[in-house]
Amino acid sequence: MHIDATTKPVGLLGYPVDHSLSPLLHNAAFQAQGLKYVYVALPVTPGDVAAAVLGLKMLGFAGSNVTVPHKQEVVSLMDDLSPQAEAVGAVNTIVCRREGNTVTCYGDNTDIAGFLAPLQAFADELRGTEMLIFGAGGAARAVVYALLSTLEPSKLTLAVRTPARAEVLARDLATYDTRQALRVAPMQDAAAAVQASTLLVNATPVGMHPHTSATPWPHADDFSEGQIAYDLIYRPHQTRWLRDVATRGACTLGGMEMLIQQAAASYVQWTGHEMPVEVVRETLNQHITETE
Ligand code: NAP
Repeated sequence: MHIDATTKPVGLLGYPVDHSLSPLLHNAAFQAQGLKYVYVALPVTPGDVAAAVLGLKMLGFAGSNVTVPHKQEVVSLMDDLSPQAEAVGAVNTIVCRREGNTVTCYGDNTDIAGFLAPLQAFADELRGTEMLIFGAGGAARAVVYALLSTLEPSKLTLAVRTPARAEVLARDLATYDTRQALRVAPMQDAAAAVQASTLLVNATPVGMHPHTSATPWPHADDFSEGQIAYDLIYRPHQTRWLRDVATRGACTLGGMEMLIQQAAASYVQWTGHEMPVEVVRETLNQHITETE
């Protein structure tokens, strides 16, 4: 990649950022399309987020992604927000807009579109049914909003280890819960909901590389044919949880497609070009095969 004074930087604000695949995937896409952008991971310690956003504006960044733990904090630092980012209370994409000497930051949340993309093929069978999410962190917020606003679950259970955090999430998103589907269950009380749900989503890091023998739900007998298990983890491709679920005849989705689709929805906003998804998919698969 040839970088010169006209190359526009795009950042990733998070802490830590060392293991992110975003620089690899975005730079592969810029290179494939011959676009003069470069994507750099920027470790920002908690407390320095406002300075980092100002830095994006002052240093000519086209924009940035935002990851753990800053997605919620940057919301109040944006000049404008997409309806999705406002609803979820989290920003994963910043677009720097320049007019003359003035730069403003627009915050969006592309995790929602990224999460929904692989579910489109199942939308008809899932609509109006019972669903469950393991976890109530930042990603779970996007998942709850995505499910409530598109698939209208009859019940949507948050199976969690810290109910107080999940109660806050449920309160924050209550406006979108028009069917009063949301409920919180401590993990140990969630078996009936696990068995009854047609869609199960793992929005915890449990099972992620290198702790690949862990699973958010160790009772494989609770799964059955007709269920869809969606693990947001993308490394490994097939987590232990997905393998367990597959042995019971359920359908499985890994997190790689969400990673690619949320990236594509950010990329087009920075560059005005559709991301070359096939190039990115191939780059990521090769990288993960080489490093696992
Ligand atoms: P987060 O904000 O830190 O939230 C993590 C959630 O998992 C919290 O609810 C936490 O519970 C729960 N949790 C953590 N360890 C647990 C354990 N041992 N047992 C039970 N619950 C546990 O993280 P996040 O941003 O939501 O990310 C969650 C996962 O989604 C990560 O694996 C991340 O890589 C993945 N993700 C993937 C994509 C994608 O594009 N594929 C996008 C975003 C996120 P407490 O509240 O009790 O701590």
